[in-house]
Amino acid sequence: MNALIEDGHVFCPLCNETFEESEYLRTVFGEVKQRWLANLVTHYRHEHVNYYNNGVGYVAAFHDYDSFKHQANERAKRQILRKCKQFLITHGFTSVDFSALQGTDPKTLELAERLLPKSNTSTYLSLLLLTGASMLDGE
Ligand SMILES: [Zn+2]
Repeated sequence: MNALIEDGHVFCPLCNETFEESEYLRTVFGEVKQRWLANLVTHYRHEHVNYYNNGVGYVAAFHDYDSFKHQANERAKRQILRKCKQFLITHGFTSVDFSALQGTDPKTLELAERLLPKSNTSTYLSLLLLTGASMLDGE
């Protein structure tokens, strides 16, 4: 299992590689899951969505950049939920981690609640089972 963040490097399950952690986000989020999520949303917007970088210059000049960025963030969160669902569950994410992020839309939260456990109880159990299983494998 890959660490979410290690030595200032954030793991992206889509690239299967790490990227450098945002220093700003490190000051905002003390909790590692939420810090990872915030880093991944930014990374996703820039690395996994072409329309964002293509659109930024135009939108910043002529439209409302903040609302464009907000929509891009929400879309990134929903894509991360869909594409990384198993990774999120394995690492103990719950819908609460999504509601902790700034400005998360009801639509995004609804998806998080549908795809992720609501509390850590079931996750602890599956982690316990995973740990037990790998211990048996090692014997
Ligand atoms: Zn990536």
